[in-house]
Amino acid sequence: MNLNDLLNLKPENFKDKDISIEEILNWFTLCDAYWLHSGKPSDPHAELTSGMCSNGFFDCLRVLKYVNLSDILANQLARKIRAVIGDQKVDWVIGSPMAGITFSHDVARAIGALISMFTEKDPDQKGKMLWKRIAIPEDDTVLQIEELTTTSKTLNAVIEAVGSGNPNPVNWIPYIGIFVHRPPKLPVDSYGDRKVIALIETEIWAVPPDECPLCKAGSIRYRPKTHWKELTGKR
Ligand SMILES: [Zn+2]
Repeated sequence: MNLNDLLNLKPENFKDKDISIEEILNWFTLCDAYWLHSGKPSDPHAELTSGMCSNGFFDCLRVLKYVNLSDILANQLARKIRAVIGDQKVDWVIGSPMAGITFSHDVARAIGALISMFTEKDPDQKGKMLWKRIAIPEDDTVLQIEELTTTSKTLNAVIEAVGSGNPNPVNWIPYIGIFVHRPPKLPVDSYGDRKVIALIETEIWAVPPDECPLCKAGSIRYRPKTHWKELTGKR
């Protein structure tokens, strides 16, 4: 399987079929969207934009930008959510910017929701979100979908934005659908009163260099975006 094979996959062939986590991670690897440190100090590790060190790297956009892959993977997550919530009505699906907007739209279609919408980044306050264009009626059920979750920060920003921007209370479904869930320490089963349903789940830590076990052990740091080949050993 190479990238070209991947881009020729047909969503209709995966409608009723579970794809293994290993297979999905292989797709990520083919898209240069995923890398995890081997544990060997002789192998390099990642230097994040923030300056922190990390043992892993995920960039979902490198996979989800492909229309067929987003469609297939959104269907996989929707199936997983349906397996938990059964036939419960889902009126709205709400995602968050940027990569999450199109992905949550694909999940909305796959799960049979009526409406797909998303919060917006607040241009005046970093990390805050806004909800101002449309009102959710009180009786409608709302499912939150995220593309990548490391901490509860974005999840909560979405809840807070809708909570303060919507004219009436919102009926959230008590689950949150996450494409890639990568907290620093597993297990994380829920955020607040909502349980996590994740398609991919793995632990990835990030620490300042002076606390980094890989730096201490002599591993070199590389920035994933500019030194992908050196970091992953890909030729
Ligand atoms: Zn380090």
